[in-house]
Amino acid sequence: MQAPSVGGVMLPRGNGETVRLSRGASLTDFAEKINANPASLVAVMMNLGEMVTATQSVSDETLQLLGDEMNYTVQIVSPEEEDRELLESFDIEFGEDEGGEELLVSRPPVVTVMGHVDHGKTRLLDAIRKTNVVAGEAGGITQHIGAYQVTTEVNDEERRITFIDTPGHEAFTAMRARGAKSTDIAILVVAANDGVMPQTIEALNHAKAADVPIVVAVNKIDVEGADPTKVRGQLTEYGLVAEEYGGDTMFVDISAKQGLHIDSLLEAVILTADASLDLRANPDQDAQGIAIESHLDKGRGAVSTVLVQRGTLRIGDTMVVGDAYGRVRAMLDDKGNNVEEAAPSTPVLVLGLTNVPGAGDNFLVVDEDRTARQIAEKRAARERNAAFAKRTRRVSLEDLDKVLKEGEIQQLNLIIKGDASGSVEALESSLLQLDVGEEVDIRVLHRGVGAVTESDIDLAMGSDAIVIGFNVRAAGRATQMAEREGVDVRYYSVIYQAIEEIEAALKGMLKPEFEEVELGTAEVREIFRSSKLGNIAGVLIRSGEVKRNTKARLLRDGKVVAENLTITGLRRFKDDVTEIREGFEGGINLGNFNDIKIDDVIATYEMREKPRG
Ligand code: GDP
Repeated sequence: MQAPSVGGVMLPRGNGETVRLSRGASLTDFAEKINANPASLVAVMMNLGEMVTATQSVSDETLQLLGDEMNYTVQIVSPEEEDRELLESFDIEFGEDEGGEELLVSRPPVVTVMGHVDHGKTRLLDAIRKTNVVAGEAGGITQHIGAYQVTTEVNDEERRITFIDTPGHEAFTAMRARGAKSTDIAILVVAANDGVMPQTIEALNHAKAADVPIVVAVNKIDVEGADPTKVRGQLTEYGLVAEEYGGDTMFVDISAKQGLHIDSLLEAVILTADASLDLRANPDQDAQGIAIESHLDKGRGAVSTVLVQRGTLRIGDTMVVGDAYGRVRAMLDDKGNNVEEAAPSTPVLVLGLTNVPGAGDNFLVVDEDRTARQIAEKRAARERNAAFAKRTRRVSLEDLDKVLKEGEIQQLNLIIKGDASGSVEALESSLLQLDVGEEVDIRVLHRGVGAVTESDIDLAMGSDAIVIGFNVRAAGRATQMAEREGVDVRYYSVIYQAIEEIEAALKGMLKPEFEEVELGTAEVREIFRSSKLGNIAGVLIRSGEVKRNTKARLLRDGKVVAENLTITGLRRFKDDVTEIREGFEGGINLGNFNDIKIDDVIATYEMREKPRG
């Protein structure tokens, strides 16, 4: 069999062999893997009815489709898998403790505090930290490094707990988006005077998705109208049943403001960890873990708070964190003390990195500086490539309609950040009231007060959302991250303007609606038989005009006898013409369709796109 070709370009054809491609790969990437000319893949896509340029990043589905067409088995490789393979090429395994069971030693649980805005997450994290300042320790001045560790006594035993101190479920989302599991237990804060709110549910779902046990802190019990029982009832509907009702979730009533029952909450965390988790790690190996928070410090250069997950991190170690690397020059704990080493579940601020890693990036200690540099450089190169590819892929308001036509999204996902909860709510409700037809949904995935953060961008990346900042700006590295990841972030200071722009984009985004427009009718007067063309109808155009290549239906005694025909040939006397107007005679050929009788009526029409109101 001859290889098929289009326009002289030979089309590549496989034998079902597997081709591994990174998510967001282009036709050029694909061509490289199978040793083909990128132009030939463009031709294949064209054959499939899609115009794609060789360097444009395409969807998973398109890669699969292309593979099927050329008889290759396409395997899409996620960024996490790619990273694992990169590390494997250096003979490094990330995420597993080295050695057997006997080397594992118990470690403190790592806790994230989540819940609806204003329910008291920040206040609770402060309260926990304060109750735990050990007298005499470095003057008791705590440093905000993004995580801290406290001790609590449970059954006469001193136990430690590590808290991730980046309020909101931001840290949680960020790390989950990167596939890094950072949290062992989630404390879900619910204000007793407010009850279960949308972000309570969102937080709860995050925790469930990550398979993380939940301890519920029913907060603000000091406030008048507080109803802790109601909170228990409400959460039952979401599968969190309090122990006192026969379930297995611990609920603790607290007041973060007055410091009430904070100890009981810490105890509940330990008890929940003991009951449902086996928290152990090997402390005697090269350290591994994740970065929680990083920034550029004027005096100290790039600093990063990392959470050690296994092994012990020591001064002088060579480490890679995301695409940053370096030798650990100094380490500070959450109280600002210099420390020499950090064991599993310990957060420390690390000095000595070449640049600033991102939240959720993994870190690992390696034997040689050279290895660290190579891994970091490979990661940086990969990120650059991915950023380049993604720039064309993510949704922006301008290309909404294009993306929708490609069938990639049916709804517009939004993340709204604003300067005050009132304005955020006002904007959200106005947007949700936009009437743009039934085909497109607007969904607000997340709303909140404050700057647009890296975690917002993360969430937007994972769900192809557009971020709206109302009277706020981006914080930290959010702008760079959005640019790198191709996330569309829009800033407004007038609600009306925001609504207008979104509405306009949505209208463009709607699938075009077509309507049938009648073009003309022709009455069959005579039938000519042609050996080459089949039957030709000799007609008189009764109304409008008949055009070649338009759709037609055949009516007999006023009834439709054939649909979806095409005027394939049109003649005036001996000449081929493109149209014949009302009152003129001519010949019509309907392709393969030959069942034409005298007095039949041929009605022609075309589908036209209906303008949106
Ligand atoms: P977050 O948005 O969840 O971090 O909430 P915050 O910790 O910022 O708390 C929101 C507001 O509720 C602040 O004004 C706090 O002082 C207040 N608050 C937090 N916990 C309590 C509490 O237990 N009792 C009372 N009365 N107010 C509280």
